[in-house]
Amino acid sequence: MPSAKRIYLSPPHMSGNEMKYIEEAFRDNWIAPLGPNVDNFEKDIAQYLGVKHVAALSSGTAAIHLALILLGVKPGDYVIVQSFTFSATVNPIVYLGATPVFVDSEPETWNMDPELLEKAIQDKRQKEKDKRKIKDKIKIKDKRKKIKGGEVKAIIGVNLYGMPAKWDEILAIGEKYGIPVIEDAAESLGSRYNGKMCGTIGKSGILSFNGNKIITTSGGGALLSDDEEMIAKARFLATQARDKAPHYQHSQIGYNYRMSNIVAGIGRGQMEVISERVRARRENFEFYKSNLSGLKGVSFIDEPGEKYFSNRWLTTILIDPKEAGADREEVRIALEKENIESRPLWKPMHLQPVFSGYPAFVNGISENLFSRGLCLPSGSSMTEEERERVVWVIRKELKKA
Ligand SMILES: *Cc1c(COP(=O)(O)O)cnc(C)c1O
Repeated sequence: MPSAKRIYLSPPHMSGNEMKYIEEAFRDNWIAPLGPNVDNFEKDIAQYLGVKHVAALSSGTAAIHLALILLGVKPGDYVIVQSFTFSATVNPIVYLGATPVFVDSEPETWNMDPELLEKAIQDKRQKEKDKRKIKDKIKIKDKRKKIKGGEVKAIIGVNLYGMPAKWDEILAIGEKYGIPVIEDAAESLGSRYNGKMCGTIGKSGILSFNGNKIITTSGGGALLSDDEEMIAKARFLATQARDKAPHYQHSQIGYNYRMSNIVAGIGRGQMEVISERVRARRENFEFYKSNLSGLKGVSFIDEPGEKYFSNRWLTTILIDPKEAGADREEVRIALEKENIESRPLWKPMHLQPVFSGYPAFVNGISENLFSRGLCLPSGSSMTEEERERVVWVIRKELKKA
């Protein structure tokens, strides 16, 4: 049994002011999925990111679900989505009965490859046309029969591990084909692209405040947009789609997706220290890089240019087993033996059993990253001693080999 204290991948890190806001909620009896903490947390986020409107929600997944509904995604439609991500990016597409179309990554940012994105759009647009032709024929024969959906309704790109995607290229393609872009910024609060804060780049952006993210509310998320109407509609749908009436009246299907005023109190305490948290995560990256990049077969992902500023949510390393003499799993197990949590990179969605039947445009990049990559402990509360312990185990394992 390892005696040293466990080092976690990305544990919560409180500022100390969270309880103050929670106590206010108790004092004023604002124990509800709305209230002053929710309003103020939304304001804090809007101000920090420079975005006009924010809806605080129960999770990042809920935010993606609403973003898709608000873009009119219907059963049978296509949503083009980055394959190299967490499943929460994709699940809401399937909730809506739409078809995810997976697009692989490019090697510089590990995010959506713009060339493959365009290929995917062209392919699905052709399918749309074919479907329309069939529809027209059916119209003549049988007016009652309908083929539903089949339109490419949205693109979802991700800033994986905090690294901004190639947004100029992705947005230009979205514009060229008239398809709105959703930015999944769940991992990239505090990152920047071309001077813009991540989460504010697409038509709408989503954040997550899950326990492992750069700041946390224990669980929560947000939908961001400069489009006032969109966020107003999101709030409406997130609170059971109640029409304006003294009684309960509904003309649409609603959801219970609003953030609680209690957890929003945690969020307010966390937003006070967001800049420090970004600084600490970036320091972890610098530490690992300067202490490990000399090892044979170990490499890091750099910001590919001036435009890119990553919050370095998780520091990741790639291990080339031929050069390093040990593979990713051997290193992970060696760390685990020393009571240190690390984790392989996200397994691409096109390789997940549950998504195996959906179309995918792949180039082998995310699959290769998955086979070689490891996420290292990256919490903002890590001590120098803890980081040294991690480095020591990795060096020892790779030297042994
Ligand atoms: C965490 C995460 C989400 C989902 O957020 P939840 O708040 O856990 O629902 C979505 N996308 C990515 C890329 C994530 O890492």
